[in-house]
This record gives sequence, structure tokens and C-alpha cells, in this order.
Amino acid sequence: MSNQNNKSRCVVDGIPSEPVGSVPRPLDLQNAMAAYTNGHLTAGELEIRFDEAVQETIERFEASGSEVISDGEQAKSSFATYPLEGLDNIASDGVVIPFVDGHSRQLPRLTKGPFRYAQYAGRYVQRAKKFATRPVKQAVISASAMSLLYPENGLTDYSRKEFTADLIREAVADIRSCFDSGACNVQIDFTEGRLAVKLDPTKQLLQQFIDLNNAVLSHFNEDERQRIGVHTCPGGDHDSTHSADVPYEDLIPMLLTINAGRFYMQMASEENPEKSLKLISEHLRPSQRIFVGVIDVVNEKVESVEEVRDRVLTAAQYIPLEQLGTTDDCGFSPFSDDVATSRDTAFAKISARVRGTRLAFEQLQKQL
Ligand SMILES: [Zn+2]
Repeated sequence: MSNQNNKSRCVVDGIPSEPVGSVPRPLDLQNAMAAYTNGHLTAGELEIRFDEAVQETIERFEASGSEVISDGEQAKSSFATYPLEGLDNIASDGVVIPFVDGHSRQLPRLTKGPFRYAQYAGRYVQRAKKFATRPVKQAVISASAMSLLYPENGLTDYSRKEFTADLIREAVADIRSCFDSGACNVQIDFTEGRLAVKLDPTKQLLQQFIDLNNAVLSHFNEDERQRIGVHTCPGGDHDSTHSADVPYEDLIPMLLTINAGRFYMQMASEENPEKSLKLISEHLRPSQRIFVGVIDVVNEKVESVEEVRDRVLTAAQYIPLEQLGTTDDCGFSPFSDDVATSRDTAFAKISARVRGTRLAFEQLQKQL
């Protein structure tokens, strides 16, 4: 395989290490987004601000040593709502997701069919590629999260079946747009996986979510599926979570039945990571790589390089080296108005992830 191919496939020496995606937006960008919403800034001016924020974010990402980078999701309203920006067939009163600190986020609700994405994530890749010199990954929202838009009582003239067919086609097009725009891999944000077990302990809802995401993945060939990942976490917003109280063991075996090649799994903030790692090792398929979370994004304290190294070494006791990667537990700012973590802290943590992962690899090499 040529170097160029290696670069486009995110192949690196050692243990691959990737971000989940988001980085807190700079305050001036947040102000610009608010000014645009209030009609005080034109779309053209906002585009310039997005370019500036993405360029600065990518420069800092590359300076952190991260082999694979993202655009920090600077131009997304949130990890879940970007396909809906500008749609005229949604209302604001959809499903409510409560977080343990008392705050909540509410998804929109579809008011009529047909359902179409207003935009595809490939546009973010195109912007990032203007500034990046390293491989760029792109996160997309899962079809299962978008399935929550369909109202419980149904819609006249637009059945759930029709909605699901449209949704699958749009989710496939969203992923395809990222590859077509040059993303080295695509990560499906599946933050509602663990939440599904909380909402329905019989796990039927989780199974429905997995079936839907597998229906999307069935439109890609094996080679493409190797470049598609799934991110799971108990939610991360304003330094709080929505489903950390659901035992990871209730999710992991079913999660690994998703036909994706990569899994970006929150782990640093787990109370008993070894229990979860053991379960992963029992259910891991040969075609799957696990990117273990070694950075706790809810905790403001920046991990030391040695702390990260030790987390990687623990994971390496359970997961074969050729199937191991590292990541952050979650994005640092999945919603555009979440500034609970500063940009400086986020990049310090990213740098610790990269350096700690390298240190662990060096140590593991010596043991071989
Ligand atoms: Zn997450």
C-alpha cells in the first residue's frame, strides 16, 4: 500500500489515536452564531467566522500531535441537529433527554413528511480539507437518533415505514458525502445506545436502534465498513451525563453486533474499566478495532502522560494490540453552546492522549 493510501486510510505507526470530534467553540464564534440567529449577521459573514474557527482549531489539533484530526465541529449547531438546520417541517417540542445534573436537551419533532436532511456532513469535511495537512475524520449522527424525530402518535399521510425508508437513505447519503469529500473515516455518534437501555430495560429499543444502524451499514461494502466507526458514551453535556448509571455490561455485547469496523468507546470515566474491557474481549470480532477512551472529558483535570499510558496498558491486557486504538471519552462540546471545558483544557487533554498512547506503545514494543 502506498504512503498516499496509508494517509487517506488513517493508518499510523503504533496504536492509532483519534478524537471523537467536538472542541468548544471560541466565544467570538458563539457570539457570531447568536448574531446570525437574531438577524444581525449575514450568512456570508458567518461563513467567514466558521472558516476562521475551523482553521484555528485545525492548527491547534495538528500542533497537539494528533495523527488524525477533526474540524472540532465548529460549524455544527450540535452533533445531532446539523441535518435539520433550516428544515420547515420540524417543531421544537420533541423527545426530551434529561441529564443527571437536572438540565435537559430536547430533540425536534417531525411535523410532516417527507423527511430529508437539510445538509450532509460532507460539507464540514470540505471546509476542514481547506486547512488540514493530516487525515480528517468526520462524525455523523446515527439514524437511530434521527428516528426519534418521528412522533409517537404518527403522522397523517406519512407512515413510520415511509419515514424509516427515507431516513435510511438520508443516513447513507450523509456518510457517503463524507467519504466523497475526502474523510479518512466516518464516526456514527450513537450516544443514545446506552440511554436506550435506561429507557427500555428489556433492550428491545436498543435492538431496534442497532437494526436500524445495521440497515444503514448494509449499503456499504466491507472495505468501507472498516472505515466506519460507532461512538458510544453515557452523554456528555455541560460536564454531565444521561446514562452513566446504566451498567456498561448491558450495552457492550449488543453494541459489538453493529457491523462497523471501529468503536470509539468511553472508558476513562468508568468506575470499573477492566470489567468492561474483559466483556469487550469476549465479544470482539476479528474485523473490529476498539478505540478505548483514555481521556475523561467530564473531569476538568488534565490527565498526565503516565496516567494515559497506564490506561492504555490496562486496555492492552484485554484487547489485541492490532485491534486497539485510543480516543477521548466523548467530544469536548457536543452542543455549540457548551463551554464547560475551555479550548486550552481540551487541547491539553488531546495532547496527553497522543503522548500517553505513544509512551504505552513504546513500552509494549519492549515487552515483545
Ligand atoms: Zn459522546
